Parts: sequence; C-alpha cells; structure tokens
Amino acid sequence: MSKRDYYEILGVQKNASQAELKKAYRRLAMKYHPDRNPDDQESEQKFKEAKEAYEIISDDQKRAAYDQFGHAGVEGGAGMGAGGEGFGGGFGDIFESVFGDMFGGAAGARGGRSRVYRGADLRYDLSLSLEDAVAGTEEKLRIPSHVKCKVCNGTGAKKGSSPTTCSTCGGVGQVRMQQGFFSVQQTCPNCQGTGQMIKDPCDACHGEGRIQEHKTLSVKIPAGVDSGDRIRLSGEGEAGQNGGPPGDLYVQISVKAHPIFSREDNHLFCEVPISITTAALGGELEVPTLSGRVMLKIPPETQSGKQFRLAGKGVKPVRGGPIGDLHCRVTVETPVNLTTHQKDLLHEFEESMKGGNSPHNPKSKSWFESVKHFFEDLKA
Ligand SMILES: [Zn+2]
Ligand SMILES: [Zn+2]
Repeated sequence: MSKRDYYEILGVQKNASQAELKKAYRRLAMKYHPDRNPDDQESEQKFKEAKEAYEIISDDQKRAAYDQFGHAGVEGGAGMGAGGEGFGGGFGDIFESVFGDMFGGAAGARGGRSRVYRGADLRYDLSLSLEDAVAGTEEKLRIPSHVKCKVCNGTGAKKGSSPTTCSTCGGVGQVRMQQGFFSVQQTCPNCQGTGQMIKDPCDACHGEGRIQEHKTLSVKIPAGVDSGDRIRLSGEGEAGQNGGPPGDLYVQISVKAHPIFSREDNHLFCEVPISITTAALGGELEVPTLSGRVMLKIPPETQSGKQFRLAGKGVKPVRGGPIGDLHCRVTVETPVNLTTHQKDLLHEFEESMKGGNSPHNPKSKSWFESVKHFFEDLKA
C-alpha cells in the first residue's frame, strides 16, 4: 500500500505554518474521530492517516526529514508499522485529540499544570582563620550543584524537540481510576505527575532538565563574623525543576582555633608570660594584637593572673556596635634550668627578704596567718 502525501492528507500547502497545520488537523480530527463515527472503518482509517500526517509535519525535525526523503525519511518515526497500525494502542479521546493542544500545544502553554519545583537550599561549611573572620575577606566557594541544562534549556527534551503533553492524563498529572463504585484520583503512572512526556530525551541531562556541576562563587565575608553566623546567598542553591525558582545557598561560618587569641563575643583574650623580675620591677612588653604589635606597660609589683585591658583592640561586631577589647592576662613564669650561680643569687635574695614583718610577701603573710588560725580553731 503506497502512502499518500502527508500534505495532501492534511489538505495544506508544503509551506504551511504550524497554525495552518493545527487548524487543518483539527478539522479532520473532528470529522473522522472514531468517537463520532462508531463502527466506520473508513473514517477510522482517515483519522489515523490525518493523525500520522500531523504528528510528522508538526514536528520540525521530522518534517525536514520527510520533505527531503519522503516517507522513507520518517519510517518508524511516528510508530506507524507496515500494517498501518499502532499509535500506542489507542486514539485518545476526542477531547484530547482535538482540543488537547488547543491553547498553543507547546509545553509552555501547559506549564501552569505541570509540577514546578523550587530547587533545594544548599549549605556550605566555611572554615575561616580568626584574622579573616575579624577583618573580613572574600572567599571562592566551589559548590556541587544542580544547574539548569544549557543544552535543552531545562526542558529535558533533545534540541529541536519539546516535551509533549502526557497522553494518559492529558497534562493534568493525575488520573481517575474506577475502583468498584469509587473513582480514585491518582498520580499519573505514565508521567509521574509532571503532565509531560519526553520522547526524545536530551543527551546532556538524560531528560532531567538539569545537570550536576561545580560552580565557583565569590562570597564577601563581612568583618566581624563569628562561628555560627550564616550568610544567605539568595538564588544560589540548586536549580528548580520545570522552570521553578532556585533554592538559596547558606554559608555556615566556623572560625578555627587561634594559637594566641581566643574570642568571646567581641572581646579577644590572650595570655602573656612575664619574668619574675618584670613582675616585681615593672617594665614594657611587646604584645600582639590582630592589627599589629603594641607595647603593654607592666607596672611594678604585678601579680600573676593580673589582666590588662587594651581598649578597642578586640573585634568590630558584624552587626554594628562598639569595638571589643583585647584582654591580656599575665602569668609570672618560674625560671627553670638555673645554673649554680643563679641558684646562689636566689638564695642570697631569699635571705635578704627575711626579717621584719614579711613586708615583701603580703599574700603569703595573710595566708600563713589564716592557716595558723585554722589549726588553733581545730585544737579548741
Ligand atoms: Zn538537557
Ligand atoms: Zn500523565
């Protein structure tokens, strides 16, 4: 059986526009649809013929192949076997065939019905040095992410084709199943609720419409951030599905431990060892701050554990407010590895402290007095 020319079947010119094709097909479908012509073999054949012609000619790629090679160019493309049978086993109902794509036909017109998913939010754990957290910095983040497939522009369909409306549910994504007396609404098993079918999936994303990629983002870290702070980058999360909006990216800050400074709110703390001589006689000491070195004046008779405050040498709070302080806590270091001569000097020094009423060690004096009272109270 030699096939009739598709343009002839549809009754259109070779250069017919999509709108003209649609109009012609609709007219034929209305006329020959089996629902309207029960038990009419000739009408059924004409309907199938028109449907096949329309499916080929309305598809740009197949139309080009047909124009060039005739029927041989699209053999099997429409699922038409040698016997002229087999459009997926059914006609669909008259409403789908005739009105199903009345509002434009392309996937976009059905967009309102297919499921749109917002992309997932992403979390990125960023570990910063104390210096960077206090001064602020710019970090490059490499983020694994789903991004919209550029090859198919997110549709999931191969270039030149577009997703078609699911024939099982008519694009609604839901089907009604009759179970006894009840009619149950279910997610369409054919399209999994998306309302669309992709016959020719995009090679790059395998029909997903998005691909996993690494993207590099530059993030400005404001001065003063601390562990637990979060920076939200709107729209930098995963790409949405079916044109849905992307999620957000949350950069979770943690600050690494520092060898010298510890931080509490906007104050910094550090421990400074001093010699017994400096502690006793006083002196000047170079101490580090995050903005450089400063001289710290140690007054005479400084005891171990004494804390000195360097105003404004702490952290500028990220949410505004006064700059914190740097607290330097001195510890008096007991000298080690003494030579015999040094030991002699210390003995001599100790001798010189004796006598009088222990004016040089007020703390020891009050402590020994307390101990003495303690034992006297026990005896009584
Ligand atoms: Zn793709
Ligand atoms: Zn469906």
